[in-house]
Amino acid sequence: MAKVAGGTRRATPRTMAPRVAPPRVQVGRSAGPSRPVKRFAPMDSRGTDATRRIDTSWKQMPRDIKNVETLDKMKDKGLYREVRRSISRFHSVLGVRETNFVLADLPKKPSTVAQQTSNGFGSLFIVLNKKFFNMSKKKFVETAKEQYKVGWSTKTNKPVAHTVTHELAHALWSDNRIEPRLRQAGDEIKKLRRKWLADKKRTELGYGDYAKKNVNEFWAEVVTKAVHGQSDKYTEAVKEIIKKYKL
Ligand SMILES: [Zn+2]
Repeated sequence: MAKVAGGTRRATPRTMAPRVAPPRVQVGRSAGPSRPVKRFAPMDSRGTDATRRIDTSWKQMPRDIKNVETLDKMKDKGLYREVRRSISRFHSVLGVRETNFVLADLPKKPSTVAQQTSNGFGSLFIVLNKKFFNMSKKKFVETAKEQYKVGWSTKTNKPVAHTVTHELAHALWSDNRIEPRLRQAGDEIKKLRRKWLADKKRTELGYGDYAKKNVNEFWAEVVTKAVHGQSDKYTEAVKEIIKKYKL
């Protein structure tokens, strides 16, 4: 669901041949495992974190991401609190670096719930789409259930947490990434998916049909299970991949 956004600084003339799925991550100094990107300080236990501030480099946000605000501007405070808790759990369970989260208007098409953006210096943002995150919590839950038909079998009394985690997983990796490190991770994820598809026990393990849809949904669902569900060999494998490729 989530698309990669990237900071191509040059204005691309509209007359250029359209690409079906434009790679939107800028390959810059941060590309490749030999140039580790800056690690941000981990979120502290009180949650004083990036959800309340915007890193100054936000000015490098791609131009199609508009009206950037901090997450605490979310309209429904109950939804905001739950999003924060989900982000916090995502970081702590997976050990991924803290990311700057912002709230913004994203392009109408494709309509994504969350996007990841990186710039040439390796700063990373996860942009939560106001279209969804400025809904009331009730509406958000309804929309999420509709969108996913939550095929994830641990049917969920935590739809906000699951939705946010699922989208954060997309933001961490998706198969349209062009950085070499992320493509290498992709090779392993695809291999893992083939093993999973051949596994007759996968329903028993708690996987729904949604994960069959494609490699991106497979990834998002296994990561979500790693964060909220029972651990199994696939959840362990994705945690390893996250560590190995510093996703
Ligand atoms: Zn998805």
